[in-house]
Amino acid sequence: MARYTGPVCRLCRREHAKLFLKGDRCFSDKCGYDRRQYPPGQHGQGRKKRPSDYGQQLREKQKVKRMYGLLEKQFRGYYFKAARMKGVTGENLLTLLERRLDNVALRSGFCASHREARQLVRHGHFVVNGNRVNIPSYQVREGDVVEVREKSRKIQKISDALANVDRSPRPSWIDLEKDNFRAKITANPTRSDISSDIDEQLIVELYSK
Ligand code: SF4
Repeated sequence: MARYTGPVCRLCRREHAKLFLKGDRCFSDKCGYDRRQYPPGQHGQGRKKRPSDYGQQLREKQKVKRMYGLLEKQFRGYYFKAARMKGVTGENLLTLLERRLDNVALRSGFCASHREARQLVRHGHFVVNGNRVNIPSYQVREGDVVEVREKSRKIQKISDALANVDRSPRPSWIDLEKDNFRAKITANPTRSDISSDIDEQLIVELYSK
C-alpha cells in the first residue's frame, strides 16, 4: 500500500495542529509547528480567510488521515466500512483507525511515530497472539496480545521508544507490560479513548455529500 513520503512538519502546519509525526523531534524545541504556526508555502502568512463549511470538513478529514498516516483511497475505504457497521459512523471510523496494528504498536509505546510503527510492523518485528503479523492495517481485537518478537527486542528504536513511554498518556484499553515487550488489548477502543480534538462528524458530512 502506498504511503506519503514527503516532508511531514508541513502537514502539521497545514492542519494547524501538532500531529506528532516525527517522534522525538515533536517533543523538542525543534518542532516545525511550534516554530512557525502558519500554513506552509508562499502564501502561508497571507490574509486569513474564513473557511467555508466544505473547507472545514476537508481540513478535518485531511488532519485525521494524516494523523494515521493514510492516503485518500485507504481512508475512504475505512469510511465506507464504518458506514456499513452498526452504530455511529464517525465513531466507527475512529475505532477502526485506532485498532490498526501500526497504531496499536505506537499507542503501546513500542514506537515513536506512526511512520516508525508502520516500518517496524512491515519488517515483521511484531507478533499477535504468537503469530508474526507484518500488515500495518491488521485489525487488533479485544483480548489480543501484541508482542515485540524475541529477536527484535534489541532494536534501538524500540528501546528508545519504551524509555520514553511515559511521555504520552497510555490509552486505558491497552495494558502494557514494558519489561516483557508485550501489550494486551483489554477492550475495544471507544470514542472517549480517542483524541477529543477530532470532530468526526465533519468527516461524515464530507463523505456523505
Ligand atoms: Fe508536527 Fe512533529 Fe514536525 Fe512538530 S516536529 S511539526 S509535531 S511532525
